[in-house]
Amino acid sequence: MVVKLDVSGVGMTSQRTRNRLTDRLREQGILSEAVLQVMASTPRHLFVDEALAHRAYEDTALPIGNSQTISQPYIVARMTELLFRDAQPESVLEVGTGSGYQTAILAQLVDQVFTVERISKLLDRALGRFRQLGLHQIKSKYDDGHLGWAEKGPFDAIIVTASPREVPSALLAQLAPGGRLIIPIGDPETQTLTMVERSSDGFDTTLVEPVRFVPLLGGKL
Ligand code: SAH
Repeated sequence: MVVKLDVSGVGMTSQRTRNRLTDRLREQGILSEAVLQVMASTPRHLFVDEALAHRAYEDTALPIGNSQTISQPYIVARMTELLFRDAQPESVLEVGTGSGYQTAILAQLVDQVFTVERISKLLDRALGRFRQLGLHQIKSKYDDGHLGWAEKGPFDAIIVTASPREVPSALLAQLAPGGRLIIPIGDPETQTLTMVERSSDGFDTTLVEPVRFVPLLGGKL
């Protein structure tokens, strides 16, 4: 039997439905056409269970198992746009692979993407999706992302898609000079999307906007 990969999508996963989502992101203030284009062409429905595929182009987080969620498209767009504003990072570290959707978006915009996930089941599924979509430039590691990925650093950009109370020091150490870290900081109820830039004499912090992410947890599962 030949299994046909439904990358193009029909009905609720069609290109028209996807364009409606990016139109909405534009209205919400996403300015980067490069980011919007990649989001319009990436099949988000392949990153959720088939039973939820019809909701994949709603601007909402959705469950992906193990009490985790695929991030809301607006947040993915916003975080990606912040990484690329006035910058062209060549290497990006992502902490929290989850479904792999954010990873797939990044992989279409930079040469090298490194991603770390602490739940092996989610990582295995994400890797299957990268293979399906031919995204071979993604390197992954099953580990606690608090540690970053020292052997592959320093990174021009680091994106964390789960929320710690404070910025993990290993991630700051692995940020290249001029590099940028985007991370939701706070407690489970109140978090602020935070941008940390490494300058010649230290770190500059900018608070971006309130967000809600699952917590950054320790250890492996
Ligand atoms: N970028 C993902 C977001 C998934 S939710 C997506 O769009 O699908 C956040 C993910 O971070 C979860 O998969 C969770 O398991 C992972 N995570 C939480 N703490 C972590 C840690 N310490 N190291 C690595 N991954 C972690």
